[in-house]
Amino acid sequence: MTARLLEGKLFARMIKDEAKQAAEALKPSLGRMPGLAVVIVGEDPASQVYVRNKERACEELGFFSALIALPKETCKEELLAEIDRLNANRRIDGILVQLPLPRHLAEAEAEIIERIDPRKDVDGFHPVNIGRLVAGERSLVPCTPAGCMKMLALAGIPVEGKRAVIIGRSNIVGKPISHLLLAENATVTICHSRTENLPAIAREADILVAAVGRPNFVTADMVKPGATVIDVGINRIAPKKLVGDVDFEAVREIAGAITPVPGGVGLLTIATLMANTVEAARLQMEGKRERTK
Ligand code: NDP
Repeated sequence: MTARLLEGKLFARMIKDEAKQAAEALKPSLGRMPGLAVVIVGEDPASQVYVRNKERACEELGFFSALIALPKETCKEELLAEIDRLNANRRIDGILVQLPLPRHLAEAEAEIIERIDPRKDVDGFHPVNIGRLVAGERSLVPCTPAGCMKMLALAGIPVEGKRAVIIGRSNIVGKPISHLLLAENATVTICHSRTENLPAIAREADILVAAVGRPNFVTADMVKPGATVIDVGINRIAPKKLVGDVDFEAVREIAGAITPVPGGVGLLTIATLMANTVEAARLQMEGKRERTK
């Protein structure tokens, strides 16, 4: 039987509608719609596309958006000063520094991310937010993993008690999704490039997450019949052809549910960024209330 197709478009719509409703509910006390600032350094074409899509999503939901496009030769101090200004800007609830940064800033990436006020860190990459996520506390969670979890919930796919296997241990996908699945009471295994017998481990998964960055990495023999397969990978194999990490055509004959690429997880990421911007606005408002008590 062919797997149920988990289409990103449908779930992204639901996440955005929910974010818009939450923003409108917050508006009377906030006095405005939430605001997102995106900082981009240089002219990387892929980053420019992502940034445009983020602006478009803000427009669609009626959020305020500010694009800070800095020249590629911007130095670390200038970028940090810009982040300080955005941290202090009351119109801005969420700040996102588009990655990757140009080579001369790459080494300072951690310092740059750490400069963002954790309550405005809509990417969820600040160590404070990572720590809170690991501790099971309320936090801003990286958008791609949070979007995948929301999709599972909206699709009615049970997580509790299930065996989840994640292939990939990056800070932006693999590690955070493992904590989110654990928080939902899955039994979680993380695989990476040094894992022995990876196909056998993958075959035990009820929920298999592929975040590797290699086309056709997950083949049909690595998938348990009926499993849910979430393909996070985005691999460009020709100028106009994107594929995921999963051998989609073969795996869809085995899996119970599967996300396509393109048209799957990628669409959830920006929708979740909107939800995180509302959550950031809420966190700051609650923080202000606490301070004035
Ligand atoms: P990273 O390159 O940071 O991490 C890749 C992970 O895959 C690493 O943990 C690595 O292991 C593991 N890996 C690599 N080769 C193998 C192998 N042969 N066997 C087992 N594990 C292996 O990538 P990201 O997590 O940032 O991204 C993963 C993919 O997801 C990419 O295609 C990226 O483009 C995509 N992506 C998609 C997003 C979306 O919105 N849909 C958002 C973010 C990413 P090790 O740690 O041992 O090196």
